[in-house]
Amino acid sequence: MSQKLLSVVVPMYFEEEVVNECYARLKSVLDSINMNYEFVFVDDGSKDKTLELLSAIADNDKTVRVYSFSRNFGHQVAVTAGIDKAKGDAIVVIDADLQDPPELIADMVKLWEEGYEVVYAKRKKRLGESKFKLLTAKLFYRVLAKLSDVEIPLDSGDYRLIDRKVAEVLKSMPERNRFIRGMVAWAGFKQIPIEYERKERFAGVTKYPLKKMLKFALDGIASFSIKPLKISQYLGFFAVIVSIVIFLYAVIYRIVGGKNLVYGWASIMTTLTFLGGIQLISVGILGEYIGRMYDESKNRPLYIIKKEIEHHEE
Ligand code: UDP
Ligand code: MG
Repeated sequence: MSQKLLSVVVPMYFEEEVVNECYARLKSVLDSINMNYEFVFVDDGSKDKTLELLSAIADNDKTVRVYSFSRNFGHQVAVTAGIDKAKGDAIVVIDADLQDPPELIADMVKLWEEGYEVVYAKRKKRLGESKFKLLTAKLFYRVLAKLSDVEIPLDSGDYRLIDRKVAEVLKSMPERNRFIRGMVAWAGFKQIPIEYERKERFAGVTKYPLKKMLKFALDGIASFSIKPLKISQYLGFFAVIVSIVIFLYAVIYRIVGGKNLVYGWASIMTTLTFLGGIQLISVGILGEYIGRMYDESKNRPLYIIKKEIEHHEE
């Protein structure tokens, strides 16, 4: 009987409070599915007991492999490493904190068996997250959809099942500033959403502070759109038009013989600050892209694995 293999990739950063529960919940779901399975846990340089707990799990379970980074490389890179290491015919990526119910995996697998190559989980509702997070997330997905050149589904994270074919495409994409949900959309293939309610974290706090959220949002936009570069061009045109109007106004004022000519101070100052602002914005936008190009050109490895736990049978 040639049963297919399902890989479950879980990135973990300071998740000692959820490791065991996560493994147990996933395991019971996977046992109910008629497939072989393996776990690929990626410890993203946690300094708590995460790795210790993962090692203990791997010692008792041959289906578990663990990869531990030499430092924190970030969620998207951890997911990338997991996909690189996964051997499955289908791969599920899921967060450790159980905000995304593992029970959905059974439905994902069903759709995959029907021939869908990407099954992504779409959040109908999000519970237990701050108003700020909800608002910024909502805004982010909408802005991204407007700017992006590929169609990136709204309100879905990285919780998804991908076929081996899609994983191979992802592996062939060497970019460093990774925005995986965009890359999956870019890859194409037959995609379908499943709706669900995003729960509260099982335990612990979010590992996505504002700074990481910002970096993530910028990666998403800059990797999938060059429209911001065009915006600065438009701003430039706009500024030129405004300054021509001001210039004409000054000339006419002079010809007509308006008094109090020194009064031009105000218009000069507004023009100066206006232009200065636009220039700084444009340079900033350029900087975002050039910085990314610099990053790519260094060609460093994407991550460094310090320790791996694999079972070699036979
Ligand atoms: N994570 C990671 N590296 C990081 C930040 C987060 O591997 O630098 C993992 C984290 O352990 C979790 C997943 O990415 O499994 C999602 O993080 P979190 O739940 O904190 O994000 P949120 O759901 O609040 O957006
Ligand atoms: Mg979470």
